[in-house]
Amino acid sequence: MPRFNLNWLYIAIIAGLAFMLFQGNGESSINKTVSYTQFKEYVTKGYTQDITVNKTDGTARMVILPQYLRDVFKAGSERTGKHPTVTTNYPSADKVEDFLSASQYKGNVKYEETHNYWLSLLGSLLPIILLIAVWLFFMRRMGSGGGNNSTGIFSVGKSKARLFEKGSGLHVTFKDVAGQEGPKQEVQEIVDFLKNPKKYTDLGGKIPKGALLVGPPGTGKTLLAKAVAGEADVPFFSMSGSDFVEMFVGVGASRVRDLFRQAKEKAPCIIFIDEIDAVGRARGKNPAFGGNDERENTLNQLLTEMDGFGTNSGVIILAATNRVDILDKALLRAGRFDRQIHVDLPDLPERVAIFKVHMRPLKLDKDLDIELLARQTPGFSGADIANVCNEAALIAARHNSSSVGRQDFLDAVDRIIGGLEKKTKVMTEDEKRTIALHEAGHASVSWLLQYANPLVKVTIVPRGQALGAAWYLPEERNITTKEQMLDEICATLGGRAAEELFTGHISSGALNDLEVVTKRSYGMVAYMGMSDELSNLCYYNNQEYNFTKPYSEKTAEKIDEEVKRLINEQYERAKSILRENADKHARLAAILIDREVIYAEDVEKIFGKRPWKSRTEVLLEEEAASKEKEEARRRAEAERMAGVAPTTPPPPIPELPAEAEAPETNDKEEKA
Ligand code: ADP
Ligand code: ZN
Repeated sequence: MPRFNLNWLYIAIIAGLAFMLFQGNGESSINKTVSYTQFKEYVTKGYTQDITVNKTDGTARMVILPQYLRDVFKAGSERTGKHPTVTTNYPSADKVEDFLSASQYKGNVKYEETHNYWLSLLGSLLPIILLIAVWLFFMRRMGSGGGNNSTGIFSVGKSKARLFEKGSGLHVTFKDVAGQEGPKQEVQEIVDFLKNPKKYTDLGGKIPKGALLVGPPGTGKTLLAKAVAGEADVPFFSMSGSDFVEMFVGVGASRVRDLFRQAKEKAPCIIFIDEIDAVGRARGKNPAFGGNDERENTLNQLLTEMDGFGTNSGVIILAATNRVDILDKALLRAGRFDRQIHVDLPDLPERVAIFKVHMRPLKLDKDLDIELLARQTPGFSGADIANVCNEAALIAARHNSSSVGRQDFLDAVDRIIGGLEKKTKVMTEDEKRTIALHEAGHASVSWLLQYANPLVKVTIVPRGQALGAAWYLPEERNITTKEQMLDEICATLGGRAAEELFTGHISSGALNDLEVVTKRSYGMVAYMGMSDELSNLCYYNNQEYNFTKPYSEKTAEKIDEEVKRLINEQYERAKSILRENADKHARLAAILIDREVIYAEDVEKIFGKRPWKSRTEVLLEEEAASKEKEEARRRAEAERMAGVAPTTPPPPIPELPAEAEAPETNDKEEKA
């Protein structure tokens, strides 16, 4: 809704003034409307010397002579004004003329064909006024979209950056950023630049203009940028790349200009542009699309501004994106965003640290095992973990607990992965059985495959969109082998395979599984060169809007075939595994129907322990081994040092037996 404000009032006042200007003739005389007969009578009686006949609106007006005022108006000139008039509506212009000539009237007669100028003017202006009003309305809407103190149309070209001044409420420091030691170290340099630029410029060095924080969403890029500002104690402008882009041409560029102007005034300071890919996308590569001119203009302006300010002006630009590959190369050139800082998803110890940061404000159980929580949240970003902590507190509050405990956190994790449990969803026994068989299929196959992710739990309680779910502990591998991928595909197909084998039908419940499997297989064949027919070929193409495939039709067919073959093979494999273990699978499904949730322990009871070590176990073992080695080395070192210090035992006297000579030799030597 358009808000009522002073602007509208001004417009109303101006309109009113204009109206009066057109209407008023400077003096106020009264006017009386009379019938035509009366009018004729006044004329015959000679009350007037001045008649105006308006042919347009069919009225006639006479000015009454002062001596007859009392007869007509029953009042003196002090009440009626100087030129009081009488108006009438005449039947036709001819009749008026006839009457006037017949009545021997001697005064002036004026025939006029006036339009009401004001009305006609209004008529012709109305569309324009309406247009302006509509335009104003939209401008205002857009101007106020940013939520800052915009004052309507005049702020469209202003940057929408939010400014966090020194000493304002926001004070994030590196302490608030858990983990991310690498990125922190890299931005530490920027903090130094901002704090002590002279140190660098004195040596002739140039201060970098910008750094690009690259990483998936929620990993703390914004947080890191804020921490840089907090540590250096400088103002911080925060803006999202999409804020630059507006419906109007030229707005983006003017916002960029405005942002840099503001920043220069506040220097030294930091500009943070989130999601820079919104403006920084590679400029029109595909002529067929014609490119987005407005976005390109904005990008050009950004590049110009970055070149324009001197290296020593003390403005440093940090930008965040998770798609460096689509950024325009010009942005990444030296002198612009010449540093890239990778902010990755946190690993286990980092997750522990992030949990600790976000648990600070919570009231926790005494014996909460944070490491267990970190283990349960592989692949979670910092933002997800913050979310888990908050969700856990809410769950605890719902249960009226006095503190937040382990189960609250685990529930929160489940909820964030899978959505809210829907205990109310009504299912027939048959549906329930199908789902149990499906999920048990996943569980069985993954348990029996060496490289499939270790299972955590399986449920058939519907949650969000899913009817059942199996939770795994994805291993955070650095490289994945073909065997590992195949095993995972096989395990994912285990659900449908079990349905087909044990219910005789296949169902829509496997939709998600199939989607995942198909995508993975395409990835393996087309991008990773892992199929026999198309080995060592990568057809990856990171260019947007590129509809021509980088391979021939024949290859396309071959890719399709290879994918089909790969999936079929794994499906058969899953079926044969299930067939061989049909009884165990059935037992698992029965428990699942009974209890609705089963954990790895239950699966282990049926299938026995997995003979393979998980990656985590291997890592732990290796760590322990290397520690032991180190320990042994240190002990040996210490021994060597200790061995040198005391006087060496005297050389054995050959005549005496060795046992008698050195009864206290230590074990090691004996063994050796
Ligand atoms: P990004 O900009 O990468 O999308 P944000 O910086 O906006 O992510 O992070 C969102 C929220 O997630 C932060 O406000 C913070 O609460 C939390 N968070 C993310 N990473 C971390 C971290 N390393 N340490 C502490 N909190 C984090
Ligand atoms: Zn499934």
